[in-house]
This record gives sequence, C-alpha cells and structure tokens, in this order.
Amino acid sequence: MGALDIIPVPGHPGMFNRRAAVEAWQRAGSPDVTYGGRLYGEQKRLYDLFRAGKGSPADNPDATWMPLAHCRFAAWDIRGITPTIRARLIRAGFIFPYSYEGWHCELPNVKQYAIVHTIPSTSGEAVKPLPKPTPAPTPAPAPTTRKATPVTLYRNDSTTPYTYALAGDSPGTPANWLVTTRADLARDWAAVHGSAVPLDGPTFTAFAARYEAPLSVKS
Ligand SMILES: [Zn+2]
Repeated sequence: MGALDIIPVPGHPGMFNRRAAVEAWQRAGSPDVTYGGRLYGEQKRLYDLFRAGKGSPADNPDATWMPLAHCRFAAWDIRGITPTIRARLIRAGFIFPYSYEGWHCELPNVKQYAIVHTIPSTSGEAVKPLPKPTPAPTPAPAPTTRKATPVTLYRNDSTTPYTYALAGDSPGTPANWLVTTRADLARDWAAVHGSAVPLDGPTFTAFAARYEAPLSVKS
C-alpha cells in the first residue's frame, strides 16, 4: 500500500485513480468529477478512432514523452469547476496546466507515474476494468467517512531552486508525497498548511523514500 497504488474513487463506482490523487482530491472536499484514471487500452481505442477520422482529438498513449496524465492515473476532470473549487484543488496540491482545459487538474510531475495498463485488485492480482455503466461490485466508502489528513510542507535546502514536498499522512492510511520546484505553488501550499519545514538534502531524500512506496502496477 502506498501513494502510487491505484484505488477506487469513493462515491464514483467504476472510477479509479492513484491514492496520491484521491487523497489530495479528498483534501479539496471531493468535488464532483467526470474522469479520473483512463487505462492504456481505452486511450488507445480513442486515439485509433481519432486517427481513423471518427473521434475527437486524443493523445497517443504510446507517446510516453507526453504528460498523458489520465493514463498515469494522476489527473481529474472536474465537473462544474468554479474559482472556489479550483483554488481548493490548488491548495490540495494540484496544478491546472492547460488554459484551454479549465476543468483538468493533475498532480505535479506526472511523468514520474507509470502508464497504467490494468486495474490491480487488492490481492495484487489484476482484474478486468469495469465497463463504464456497470457499477462496482462493492460500493466504495462515502467520502465523509474519511478524516481530514494532516499535511506538512517540507523544503529541501540543498537544491537550487528549492524543492518542496507536500506530505500527507493520517493514522491507518499510507502517506503521500507531492513534489514541486515551483515557488508559486509552494507559496499556495504554505498559505494553507503552514510554512515549509526546512530539511537538508539527505533528510529530505530519506523522507521521500519513506513516503514513496514501490510501484504496485506493471507498466
Ligand atoms: Zn483531463
């Protein structure tokens, strides 16, 4: 279990995303979403349709130099985005990289997350992704059953520019660790979660290792 795990999205049967994205989204108050993770196969289908002149523009899931944030299960499309919801998501750790897609937010540095080919079951054995309209066999817990997670902002003083990490932790759940070198983003995070705790390089690296669990999906 770790921040990189693929988990069901509470309140959205059949939808999955990385734990780090789900926990940050919950910190933002779980705003309504239309899309979370999109499996490689589904993206490939959309891309092939587009190439055949039959679908909307879609990115090639094999172009791994591209962000492909949904295929990395590190993005959300927000339904009915408002400036307030957007501000909450930014404070929770998300960025809005596309001015022409105001509803799309993602974790910083999405390329650190692998493209996802299958939804793993909790037993570690891959299960078939559910077709869209079919509800998940077991209802996900309501978002309100989660307690707010305490969050700490850390700063690595041995990098130029500084590297910041927003670390979420709560009893009984794995931590998560969002990294950025963007000072403006770090300022937004600090405004909500308190000033950054300065760490030397080795300590910062050790913290990161503790927070970032090994990848549990094949790519
Ligand atoms: Zn999107």
